[in-house]
Amino acid sequence: MRIICIGECMVEMAPLDNAGTYRMGFAGDTLNTAWYLARLLGDRAEVGYFTAVGTDGVSDQMLDFLGSARIDTSFVLRRADRTLGLYMIQLQNGERSFSYWRSHSAARTLAQSGGDIAATLQGAGIACFSGITLAILPPEDRATLSRALEDFRSAGGTVVFDPNLRPKLWADPKDMTQAIMDAAGLSDIVLPSHEDESTWFGDQTPEDTAKRYAQKGAGIVVVKNGPGEIVVHSDTGLSHHQPEHVSNVVDTTAAGDSFNAGFLSSHIAGASLDQAIATGAKLAARVVTHRGALVEEAVLGNELAG
Ligand code: AMP
Repeated sequence: MRIICIGECMVEMAPLDNAGTYRMGFAGDTLNTAWYLARLLGDRAEVGYFTAVGTDGVSDQMLDFLGSARIDTSFVLRRADRTLGLYMIQLQNGERSFSYWRSHSAARTLAQSGGDIAATLQGAGIACFSGITLAILPPEDRATLSRALEDFRSAGGTVVFDPNLRPKLWADPKDMTQAIMDAAGLSDIVLPSHEDESTWFGDQTPEDTAKRYAQKGAGIVVVKNGPGEIVVHSDTGLSHHQPEHVSNVVDTTAAGDSFNAGFLSSHIAGASLDQAIATGAKLAARVVTHRGALVEEAVLGNELAG
């Protein structure tokens, strides 16, 4: 099984103290999912990342980082006139805020040619993308990506989509909601988070979110809801799953991305929907008890892998 995640991986600058010392890392929603998938699946699957990066040193460093996480980067596009996007985390009175420099990032050019995406998806079983993948693309490239995913799906591939709504990345919230619903219409599995959805689609309940995406044709919709019940819509109708209680939440960064990886790793191994959701929730529960997006400790031990 080959899984390809599509999107933007950024440089992350995270504060180590209040004196201006920062640690550089790499993160991004679909990349986080790829990283956890590679860790969970080991030799049982090949996980690849499709994006565009620069030709500079920091881009090389990112590719080395992905390679050391056993993520295949052989299809990553190189752009001599661009480099990676960057974000910086600031801590003020214990609250985290984020500043972004990504408006001219290389990843924004990832879908300039549908041929590159098609070649990457050739022979893959699963393609994962998100609302952020869509948000960073110009409209014509978004259409190119959609066509490539449609072709992939027609050839028997499974398309997985996390709406990950980020209104700041869109010129108009209406463009965002339209693009998200269009993308859901070409997806087999949709993995939204209710909090974002209620704000931008006006869903009163997670069930509303699940039904709205199911109506677009997704066979499986898993609605995450922080510590609240996870609501699933599948061919057997609606079901509810309580994630385990976490008393010491430290940082919810990548909770949804890691949930997606846990869910998918279990789903493709043939587990039931209930088991796959439990695996996703278990991994996310561990991730939120640590600081940062990529938490090595969360995937140590192999009881999550099956
Ligand atoms: P979210 O995208 O914030 O809805 O969270 C994704 C998943 O992470 C949820 O479905 C839960 O499984 C887990 N999660 C997030 N926040 C918490 C929390 N405070 N306590 C327990 N689990 C959480």
